[in-house]
Amino acid sequence: MKLPIYMDNAATSPCDPRVVEAMLPYFTEKFGNAGSRNHSFGWAAEEAIDIARNQIASLIGANSKEIIFTSGATEANNLAIKGAAEMYAKKPAGETGRGHIITAQHEHKAVLDPVHRLKKMGFDVTLIAPGEDGVIYASMVEKELREDTILVSIMWANNEIGTINEIPKIGKLCKARNIIVHTDATQWVGKMPTDVERDNIDLLSMSAHKIYGPKGVGALYVRRRRPRVRLVAQLEGGGQERGYRSGTHNITGIVGLGKAAELCSQEMDQEGARLVKLRKKLEDTLESRLEVSQVNGHRDRRLPHLTNISFGFVEGEGLMMAVKDIACSSGSACTSASLEPSYVLKALGIGDELAHSSLRLSLGRFTKEEEVDYAIDNIMTGVEKLRTMSPLYDMHKEGIDISQIEWAAH
Ligand code: PMP
Repeated sequence: MKLPIYMDNAATSPCDPRVVEAMLPYFTEKFGNAGSRNHSFGWAAEEAIDIARNQIASLIGANSKEIIFTSGATEANNLAIKGAAEMYAKKPAGETGRGHIITAQHEHKAVLDPVHRLKKMGFDVTLIAPGEDGVIYASMVEKELREDTILVSIMWANNEIGTINEIPKIGKLCKARNIIVHTDATQWVGKMPTDVERDNIDLLSMSAHKIYGPKGVGALYVRRRRPRVRLVAQLEGGGQERGYRSGTHNITGIVGLGKAAELCSQEMDQEGARLVKLRKKLEDTLESRLEVSQVNGHRDRRLPHLTNISFGFVEGEGLMMAVKDIACSSGSACTSASLEPSYVLKALGIGDELAHSSLRLSLGRFTKEEEVDYAIDNIMTGVEKLRTMSPLYDMHKEGIDISQIEWAAH
């Protein structure tokens, strides 16, 4: 087996070789600019983009005209949130009370930061706190709706804990009140069946590099009928993508995203079933063999491939060292550069100590069962070894309730 084992597919996934193969001609012989309307190089590029648009639309139940290519989910989120807020603002820039936006505390920073900026620009913001299961239910959103609510942005599935929010119900709720719904579906699309029409989604963000496509390309779905959603462009220039996103098309990336989407449409069912089995093996074995360990977030409402487990009585950095043969994450890859405990786990009410000693393990298309077995052994050995060095664990074994101890401060 080749070490280290890759178990960080939620951070990014390798390109599927079939995706790379589809992309290759577009670096060399088919390198045209889709904006070149008067020669065959341009036409070939335009045709390839149309094919990709259809492949993506069919993965999410959209019309191809509703797909806007971006540089990834970060840009798609920024365009959706800032673009909708500006378009549907109730008062002009410079005033307060411009409209109410609802999101959740444990969204990705690519949602939270645009929303924070809008707050500074005169919009009111509600951040819903999840319960300990991490799920945002439609009832939680319903409670926060106001007369002036213009946008609800709730991710479909969480990138750190893999929990699934009640998006179809949230869509229905907002549709009935003419409120725009955006969902950051970066971790969901391609893994689980998606139908924006049935589920009343107005705006949906996705990214190629989480679904075995290349990095630096993604898409935003923008509803065109019932209702026709409009956005204020955040990048201006050549007017590509119906004026929503100027800039020469990243043709290789777009072809890659299209191919990746097509493969997901074809293989999602078998792949999901296989990954659920592997993930459950990982979770059940670790939880049953290692005491004081817990899977974070709702046990059933979760993505097939992603788990997040905390191990009590081990120190976070020690744990990462002990499992260095497993490429995984101790929180979101986007925030793990800092030593802050994960804000997502904190939002679920998980204490700092336990948040630090948690691992996010995310399996993928290329994960083999023997790798999961290796990871189980490796994590068990590591945790057990760290616990032999923990005086607190000794006390726990002696039956002392550590939370009740009054530590002397000198
Ligand atoms: N949203 C979520 C839920 C994500 O997991 C990520 C990737 N970490 C992003 C947005 C950002 O995606 P991209 O890298 O395509 O900008």
